[in-house]
Amino acid sequence: MNRYLQSVERLQEAKNYVAGGVASSLRASMKPTPLYVQKAYGARILDVDHHEYIDYMLAYGPLILGHAHPAFNEQLYEAMQKGSTYGLQHEGEIRLGQRLTEILPCAEQVAFSGSGTEAVMLALRLARAYTGRTKTVRFYGHYHGWSDAIFTSFPSPDFSSSGNTEAAGSEIIQGTAGQSQNSLKDLILLPWNDPAALEETLTKHQHEISAVITEPVMCNSGCIAPKPGYMEKMRELTAKFGIVLIWDEVITGFRLGLGGAHERFGILPDLVTIGKAMAGGIPLSAVAGKRDIMRLIEEGTVMHLGTLNGNGLATAAGLAVIQELSKSDGQAFKDMEHTATLLTDGIRSILRTNGLQAVVNQQGPVFHLMFIDHSEVSDFDTFNLRDSQLYTRFAEEMLHEGILVRPNGLWYVSTAHGEKEVQETLTAVEKVAQRIA
Ligand code: PLP
Repeated sequence: MNRYLQSVERLQEAKNYVAGGVASSLRASMKPTPLYVQKAYGARILDVDHHEYIDYMLAYGPLILGHAHPAFNEQLYEAMQKGSTYGLQHEGEIRLGQRLTEILPCAEQVAFSGSGTEAVMLALRLARAYTGRTKTVRFYGHYHGWSDAIFTSFPSPDFSSSGNTEAAGSEIIQGTAGQSQNSLKDLILLPWNDPAALEETLTKHQHEISAVITEPVMCNSGCIAPKPGYMEKMRELTAKFGIVLIWDEVITGFRLGLGGAHERFGILPDLVTIGKAMAGGIPLSAVAGKRDIMRLIEEGTVMHLGTLNGNGLATAAGLAVIQELSKSDGQAFKDMEHTATLLTDGIRSILRTNGLQAVVNQQGPVFHLMFIDHSEVSDFDTFNLRDSQLYTRFAEEMLHEGILVRPNGLWYVSTAHGEKEVQETLTAVEKVAQRIA
């Protein structure tokens, strides 16, 4: 009998009413079938077929406190009692805005929205209005949401629908049918971690480029760290040419530390976008940065819209996450990193013993595991050589062993994961490695 029968049947039923059966296209690619959930608690999820999994997908990143965290939930219930949203102003917006300006080194002011995609849209718009220029520089292998002006074809098994993938040096390919080709005409795609390419392009097109947008760690393609000096060079060049530097910290914000990657690396971008972990699983995102740029919103030059922006539930969630992660001087981040390191050390050793060639790139509590015939993966072209099919098989086998991981190789650890979860996970890796070796 199919051990995922209930999920399979639910998907069939859903397809009658929900386009594609799932609420976000990425979720359709899960093998052997998209799972339906009964409930989730701490680091674990229970599916409708009554299988329990340790969850390293964490809803694609947001669940930094794990599922159904008691103190987090309590603060949400409390907020709900006062009404969830008003379309008017309230104390929660001020308090969260204040905390963010204290936490994020680059933040003089913030603007709230609901998703990472929206925050990126606003940041790009602010940059165009601020500079009076139109072009945006972006990098191969980075993902900044699915809005028309920035979404290009993406090399991940999750993003399988288009069939095309972006490769360094290739022409820009739309991320999806229905996207206007014109909307991408202001985009310049460059290889990341290549200071010479950056310098050449910025020098040549300095009067046309409004923004350089980058993930500070290439989390969406291999969890690759910037080479020493690269982000400093990017900061120096953008400042020199009056280009707005946007760090897309939708993944790294609240994950590499409360102050995100820019605090960790000690570099001040002009704007950052944050989302995912900042509200622990409730929709909330923000643009934060220099007052001189953010003032365009106050002046009414740049419109910042959204019916549910800054609603009471979202701001309560953001404040609850900050409260939990600030405890004991940020010990939670050290603990998560320690847990992730136990996992990555263990996984590396088990795979090696079983003759499987793999690279695990870790940055704090997030890491990417890929099967590849290389000793290291520090650029996008090498990343593209990984054996995605073998990883997909690994992920499916791990699911049978009670471990939920994303099919693209990115693992997240939360404050709810501890040594017990690590032990169970490594036992599963051992079994799966023997099967697929
Ligand atoms: N930016 C980055 C770096 C992301 O990883 C994502 C989503 O994965 C986004 C932006 C888009 O965020 P959302 O899915 O909340 O729209």
